[in-house]
Amino acid sequence: MRWLGHAAFSLVSPGGVRIVTDPFDETVPYPPITLECDVVTVSHEHFDHNGVKGLKGSPRVLRAVEGKEVVPVDVTVGDVRFRTVPSLHDDEGGTKRGPNGIFVMEMPGMTVVHLGDLGHALDEKTVSAIGHCDVLLVPVGGYYTIDGKTAAGVVRSLRPKVAIAMHFKTDLIKDWPISGPEVFEAEFEKVKKLPPGEFEVDLSAVPSGEIEVWIPAI
Ligand SMILES: [Zn+2]
Repeated sequence: MRWLGHAAFSLVSPGGVRIVTDPFDETVPYPPITLECDVVTVSHEHFDHNGVKGLKGSPRVLRAVEGKEVVPVDVTVGDVRFRTVPSLHDDEGGTKRGPNGIFVMEMPGMTVVHLGDLGHALDEKTVSAIGHCDVLLVPVGGYYTIDGKTAAGVVRSLRPKVAIAMHFKTDLIKDWPISGPEVFEAEFEKVKKLPPGEFEVDLSAVPSGEIEVWIPAI
């Protein structure tokens, strides 16, 4: 897996399906995403999540939001099942920033959940709709999304083995009104800072019952 900046990750399933999540467009000052992939997920239609044009190949684009609704995507490509769970981009009923789709990606040996620009804590209904989660990609920067403290609560309610922070301030987007990952990190005992580049997700290395927090770098 690799963090591409903001809410964008690339990952490859055990069967070789190449996935990119929430690519940002060229106005976002991270290195442009020009990967070749098979599937791209888009949690909602904002510029920092739906920049699919730069991607190479002819990926299948799975869009979670149509108009004001999260649509019920349930698509299997190769060995990966993709499904959406509805949520909101703010904590005011979606009136400020609209809907947000959570993507659940089930593949052999691992379920990865991408929370998009989640704007609120999760109720029980949403937690059970998401179901089992091994690797959680969670926004922690606040302002546009949940902040570090709320994100920590979301992690505890979903109980993944690994929670990977995203959508936080870095040197490349230092003027954006979001925070770094510090508040989120401080809520957990096991925090690992990842080096830039590719990283392996080996769930067997995480003791059962524990939650590891990983902070990616670009
Ligand atoms: Zn965003």
